[in-house]
Amino acid sequence: MYGILIIGAGEAGVQAALTLRQQGYQGQITLLGDESGRPYERPPLSKQCLLDGSDAPLISGSQQLEALNIQYRNGQRVVAIHRNQQQVELASGEQLPYERLLLATGAQARTLTIEGMPAEQVLTLRSRGDAERIRQRARPGQNVVMIGAGFIGLELAASLRTLGLEVTVLESAERILQRAVPASIASLIAAEHQQQGVEIRCQSSVEYASSTDYGYQLHLLNGERINADWVLAGIGSVPNTHLAQDAGLNVDNGIQVDHCLRTSDPMIFAAGDCARFPLDLYNTEVRLESWRCAREQGEIAALNMLGANTIYNVAPWFWSDQYQLGLQMVGLPIGVTQEVIRDFNGSRLVFLLNAHQQLVAACGVGPGNTVARDIKIAERLINQGLHPSAEQLADTSISLKSLLK
Ligand code: FAD
Repeated sequence: MYGILIIGAGEAGVQAALTLRQQGYQGQITLLGDESGRPYERPPLSKQCLLDGSDAPLISGSQQLEALNIQYRNGQRVVAIHRNQQQVELASGEQLPYERLLLATGAQARTLTIEGMPAEQVLTLRSRGDAERIRQRARPGQNVVMIGAGFIGLELAASLRTLGLEVTVLESAERILQRAVPASIASLIAAEHQQQGVEIRCQSSVEYASSTDYGYQLHLLNGERINADWVLAGIGSVPNTHLAQDAGLNVDNGIQVDHCLRTSDPMIFAAGDCARFPLDLYNTEVRLESWRCAREQGEIAALNMLGANTIYNVAPWFWSDQYQLGLQMVGLPIGVTQEVIRDFNGSRLVFLLNAHQQLVAACGVGPGNTVARDIKIAERLINQGLHPSAEQLADTSISLKSLLK
């Protein structure tokens, strides 16, 4: 009895291991992770952990791994998958057999090289260790330049500004969060950053850096210069697919899986940030970097490794916290032809409809958790494929709940 082997002890891997036991699976479960310590949550790394120096909270349920007879082995890097023998190879040379294998290897931060700036002055954030390095580096009054105005970049900008650093955000696109949220939401977030004293420069890219007596100066392509004690790059991430690729599995910006999260080898599944999967709700294939998607896919992969044929087909959901603002979004902005704005009590919801007047995505921002309830309703509207009219969505005298069937 070789059991089930899981590579990657993040959100997806831990959830898969726990689900296998919850489903009554009695065989051996081995969870291999290449990081040290217990499995931890990543989202707080750019938020609370930076602000107060606290440790990342452990992934819920991961304290029970041993009690559930799940063998958790940290600090173990898998270097190869030998599919013919159904074995994986660890960096130590140890070979471990499997009946079913789950790849939950996540992603890594895309790195950035700036000519004239030593690599150790350009930091990225993905792991607990990265957060610790940023925390140790940050001192009030320093000039830090954040390259990239995606979610992680803006969360870092907000946290570092709150810690008293002078923060400049450089974004090569025309606006912040260009691919992620509608302009009418992005403008509110940009305004909050500006109010807090963060300088945002769009359509700006670094050409090279030069050192000065007091730090570095970044030379932008448009000829401008900015002082920087150090730089943070938040320019996206790269899925960890090399193991899958070397083993001959199909890989294309993520490990390709079918509706049941099975790779091109029926004994091997993939879930979370490393997986690219078909999403019928949008008639597309995607790879997401979303906490909830990783958890849900971990669960579904576990069910399917036990023989079920459960499909992952729900509207993706994501959140971000910056200063006191809570942002949530659900769905994918695919085929959008109309945006409907619903403003209420200092919060804004934006609904995105396609040419068939079908709600495909919704995004909301406001103080604290104010948009959470409405985004939850929008999620149900999307998952049920409902067609609320633009007038109904915009009219704050009509409760969103009443639009559910
Ligand atoms: P991971 O959590 O990356 O876990 C993969 C694990 O596999 C890692 O520990 C990795 O080291 C390990 N591994 C890789 N290769 C090997 C190997 N060969 N051998 C052994 N182990 C290996 N999402 C949201 O929805 N909202 C947020 O606000 C949010 N904030 C975030 C903030 C930050 C700073 C980061 C980094 C992410 C954030 N996310 C957020 C995204 C969310 O955390 C991820 O989508 C989620 O953690 C992905 O889980 P995963 O299990 O797929 O991958």
